[in-house]
Amino acid sequence: MPDASRPTVLDAGPDAIAVAAARLRAGGLVAVPTETVYGLAARADDDAAVAGIYRAKGRPSFNPLIVHVPDLAAARALAVFDERALRLAERFWPGALTLVLPLRPDAGLAGAVTAGLATVALRCPAHPVMRAVLMDAGLALAAPSANASGAISPTSARHVVASLGGRIDLILDAGECAAGIESTIVALRPEGGWQILRPGPVTGAQIAGVLGEEETRGGSGAIEAPGQLASHYAPGKPVRLDARRAEPGEFLIGFGDIGGDTNLSASGDLAEAAARLYAALHEGDASDRDSIAVAAIPGDGIGAAINDRLRRAAT
Ligand code: AMP
Ligand code: MG
Repeated sequence: MPDASRPTVLDAGPDAIAVAAARLRAGGLVAVPTETVYGLAARADDDAAVAGIYRAKGRPSFNPLIVHVPDLAAARALAVFDERALRLAERFWPGALTLVLPLRPDAGLAGAVTAGLATVALRCPAHPVMRAVLMDAGLALAAPSANASGAISPTSARHVVASLGGRIDLILDAGECAAGIESTIVALRPEGGWQILRPGPVTGAQIAGVLGEEETRGGSGAIEAPGQLASHYAPGKPVRLDARRAEPGEFLIGFGDIGGDTNLSASGDLAEAAARLYAALHEGDASDRDSIAVAAIPGDGIGAAINDRLRRAAT
């Protein structure tokens, strides 16, 4: 039964942040804004709290969660940082970069967080609200995107309500997410080499600027980040890419000169397009049209991450 009294949406001021932190310490779930997308947070050291995330999202239990920390010291209590990891953290944290590193045996994380892997995905986010929640709670927080598993990620509190509605109690609202696309995930191989498991706001060129060229050999070939699954971030309707105009019954998401029903960036700005991508997909999904068409987006810089998400939305 949908429960109209849930969730409570609070403007993310100091009082609301204190309420959220207390709720998290007590093992509850809270949706929190970050600079990438809204996350569904729970304390990462508690099996029951983490199980609540999987239940609310309908997420397959083989899909591990990103753990959010307030600073590098907290991260080093959970994972083994080699010199490369330290350089990346120094350059890009706080920010939209997730590092996959060897899990410390004494990390004390709930088993479901890493889905039994010997590695853990860590991020130190930049959003002031998420940072305040992390510091007030005094905990590492597991926080995947705050949407039903496989669906479009939320870039506003309204999107969280639409996707998870009665399944969670509390959402902190801080308006729209600035980056609008999930963090870049980089795996550092213990034997040397690195790979981008999921493209995002921090570009491959920026990582290569710190670490040198990416490992292209492709690791074991196994799927490590379900963000790599062919279909993910998907709206409930067919999606057609590289559209020049709307066919009958299509909701057109434009870019640059291709106007559309909504436009990711009339000036052709890729950062603006990334920030607006999920809101536009949500809008197309909620429209009265049968399907969604999207104009071609250049693949340079953050355009690589936009095209990655669009390909998965269209599969
Ligand atoms: P989301 O649920 O949108 O926050 O996405 C989290 C992403 O991080 C998923 O693609 C996970 O598969 C990935 N991830 C989390 N932990 C690990 C890990 N230990 N190794 C590889 N990928 C991971
Ligand atoms: Mg997600």
